[in-house]
Amino acid sequence: MTDLVDIHSPDAAGSVAAVDASCHSDKAAVREAAKAAGSGETLERYARDYPVGPHDQPQSMCPAFGALRVGLRMRRTASVLCGSACCVYGLTFTSHFYGAKRTVGYVPFNSETLVTGKLFEDIREAVFSLADPDRYDAVVVINLCVPTASGVPLRLLPKEIDGVRIIGIDVPGFGVPTHAEAKDVLAGAMLNFARREAEQGAVQAPRAPRSEKPSVTLLGEMFPADPVQIGGMLDLIGLAAGPVVPTREWRELYGALDCAAVAAIHPFYAASVREFELAGRPVVGSAPVGVDGTAAWLEAIGAACGVGAGLIDAAKAKLLPAIKGALAATPISGRITLSGYEGSELIVARLMVESGADVRYVGTACPKTRFSADDRDWLEARGVEVKFRASLEDDCAALAEYKPDLAIGTTPVVQKAKERAIPALYFTNLISARPLMGVAGASSLAKVVNAAMASKGRFDAMRDFFEGVGVGPAAGVWETIPRDRPEYKARRRAKAAKPPAEEMGAC
Ligand code: SF4
Repeated sequence: MTDLVDIHSPDAAGSVAAVDASCHSDKAAVREAAKAAGSGETLERYARDYPVGPHDQPQSMCPAFGALRVGLRMRRTASVLCGSACCVYGLTFTSHFYGAKRTVGYVPFNSETLVTGKLFEDIREAVFSLADPDRYDAVVVINLCVPTASGVPLRLLPKEIDGVRIIGIDVPGFGVPTHAEAKDVLAGAMLNFARREAEQGAVQAPRAPRSEKPSVTLLGEMFPADPVQIGGMLDLIGLAAGPVVPTREWRELYGALDCAAVAAIHPFYAASVREFELAGRPVVGSAPVGVDGTAAWLEAIGAACGVGAGLIDAAKAKLLPAIKGALAATPISGRITLSGYEGSELIVARLMVESGADVRYVGTACPKTRFSADDRDWLEARGVEVKFRASLEDDCAALAEYKPDLAIGTTPVVQKAKERAIPALYFTNLISARPLMGVAGASSLAKVVNAAMASKGRFDAMRDFFEGVGVGPAAGVWETIPRDRPEYKARRRAKAAKPPAEEMGAC
């Protein structure tokens, strides 16, 4: 029998009753309620790690999806959500849409269990029932918006049950701006746990035998061929590619920490970087993309790992002509705007510019960090407008201003582009799911990008065919086309403009 922790507090109960903690709520009010309920420290840390502004939350999916996805991709890891049923439904649906093929645990609640503290007891019970060391290395519990706003204290869960680690994290939409950064919330929490374990003594060895060479840990999810490409480049300078974080298994975390340096291929992993730096590992930004990017990255990695200039020069002499040749053999011609929320937008743009594309705008939902500074400088020096924490409005404004031959972006951007008969590609599904690094990356984008731009004629034909159908007052599905009533709109506008007293008098 386990001890029960009484978390009932009038503050928590008051917070829940007083605010609507959903995606559409007043975020400032929810944050205040969450602080009153005991989540203040976590929210302050998130505010430091994931700075907002000029836009406070880019329009993307529920942030918790990032953390859930990281947990679901790990072997021997159970993932449990605690939040409103509608949120859990959406997150579970999206997980399976992306091929999770794993069970998502759910601890439901109602007003009573939330405000009396019974919900915490339910979570605790669920964790104890799941913590089977034969099946799991870790159980991850993710508090969504309502439990976070109510201060459901996952920090009070036991850290370990029968050798199974228990990782409780808050991932509220009002504290974590994007699903990309939510990946870091979980990856950082796991690295923190693993670092403390490693500090205490021997830890489990990795499944695959490790290279004798010093390794470079790769931070950020990549196309599976990219770590292999990077490994080939590192081999030339006497290093090896280490694990990719977020890892696919708990024991890889120790290997990730035991590295010579970390390559922050994606620049937004603030909590993970903190753990690596606490472990004394230097962190290098950008990535080996294109000629300039590969040269600069090899130099930076070499400097971080103490590799001599001779080896770096020899590696550059071998790699750069091959990359240059691949870029020249598969050129991209046309004007492009690009936006996304994966964190790889700037390195993709660099590759496109080196392929010959006229890239005018790069928008990323991620914040500006020290690890994206070099990529931003490189792009801006070539006349590319770079926008961090870009909103949908920013991306659509770029579309209108630059009138590209191809728009690469999120679903609503692609939809807007297609309405204008501009060929468009989804960043997440069609661009970021391709190799980008080294020689393989140099030739991988041109085919899909050029094919999309070549389809302009089809878009023009479709626009001409559908022109005027289902727009303005006729938008939607109708049996007969609705008649526009401008006089109704004018009357309503006039009524809305009248002062309330006058309006009441008129009645
Ligand atoms: S958990 Fe996600 S879907 Fe639910 S209210 Fe929060 S941000 Fe919205």
